[in-house]
Amino acid sequence: MTIFPSSFDPATRTRWDKLLGEVVTIAAKHPDAVFASSLAAEDMLLLHAIVQTQAPIEVFTLDTGRLPAQTLGLIDTIADRYGAAVKAIRPDPAAVHEHVAQHGEFAFYESVVLRKACCAIRKVEPLRRTLKGHSAWITGQRRGQSVTRVELAESEFDPVFGLQKYNPLAGWTEDQVWAVIRALDIPYNPLHDQHYPSIGCDPCTRAIRPGEDARAGRWWWEQRASKECGLHAGNLKAIDAQT
Ligand code: SF4
Repeated sequence: MTIFPSSFDPATRTRWDKLLGEVVTIAAKHPDAVFASSLAAEDMLLLHAIVQTQAPIEVFTLDTGRLPAQTLGLIDTIADRYGAAVKAIRPDPAAVHEHVAQHGEFAFYESVVLRKACCAIRKVEPLRRTLKGHSAWITGQRRGQSVTRVELAESEFDPVFGLQKYNPLAGWTEDQVWAVIRALDIPYNPLHDQHYPSIGCDPCTRAIRPGEDARAGRWWWEQRASKECGLHAGNLKAIDAQT
């Protein structure tokens, strides 16, 4: 049972209790379920829920080779705090080498095509490799994060990777996420305190300005409709419906 301060928002407390139940249910239904953690605030909350419920869900993160030091440092923080290992999944070194040799270290600034090619090598292929043979995966995505996520379902079949996908935080608000993080003293990426609500690879993420969309700092040189990296390609149907 989770102990919250007496003044804690009852609706958020209910959401948290529901989340704990959902994590247990997913693990029971899919004993091979894996959690793809981006190590963002939402994902830290989800990790805390998994640890608290002792649900046998393996946690991994995609170490693209271009992550900020603060994100990598969180892996050690998690080990210290929870005694839990987050498996770092890395891209195929030969594919990275070939892409960099052909297009350069910063080709992603040149075109959406080259940016997506980099994401495909450093993120999508490693994810596909890791999800292979599993029946379900879990993410920390929320609908409020982006225009590409407004139609996010809590549970859906993922046609891209061919397995069930759970987004148990889909309906959470940013305030609710942070209320639980503060109340339970859950560790988080220090970049969040420097106006980075969404954190990806170092060269592809900047701090946002007041009033900007939470994902405005991701691939900021691109139009909003292209701002997914291929891990959640199904989200782009929301954009397709609007244009
Ligand atoms: S976010 Fe940027 S550096 Fe990271 S994989 Fe995608 S294009 Fe490459």
